[in-house]
Amino acid sequence: MKIALIAHDKKKNDMIELAKEYKDTLSLHTVYATGTTGTLTKGATGLDIICLKSGPLGGDQQMGSMIADYDLDLVIFLRDPLTAQPHEPDINALLRLCDVTSTPLATNLGSAHIMLDALRDGKLKSRKELKL
Ligand code: PGA
Repeated sequence: MKIALIAHDKKKNDMIELAKEYKDTLSLHTVYATGTTGTLTKGATGLDIICLKSGPLGGDQQMGSMIADYDLDLVIFLRDPLTAQPHEPDINALLRLCDVTSTPLATNLGSAHIMLDALRDGKLKSRKELKL
């Protein structure tokens, strides 16, 4: 499965803790991340993460392109709802494309745990299995 990790600055520690908790599961899959999220998470966990550009520098759009191609099976995007982001249009476009393509999306820790538990337990269907 192809999993995407994205976290806004104030949520990066949450993402690192989440990746540590699910390291064994994530290590069985192909993990992509926006630049800074990926670099920090890789450094903290040792996970093999494919880093795209930093979100504000086009990483969200790169991720959006993969989503538009039905190429990601799960997106975990820990958003900071309390801070204005300079690349808000890119973020909205990425979220919209998840809905356009029915790509499973978790935008907070609660839903991220549910998704990763499902992934760990083999209950998360891949895009091909979902046939959406
Ligand atoms: P970053 O991008 O991982 O490069 O910080 C995340 C974002 O803000 O979209």
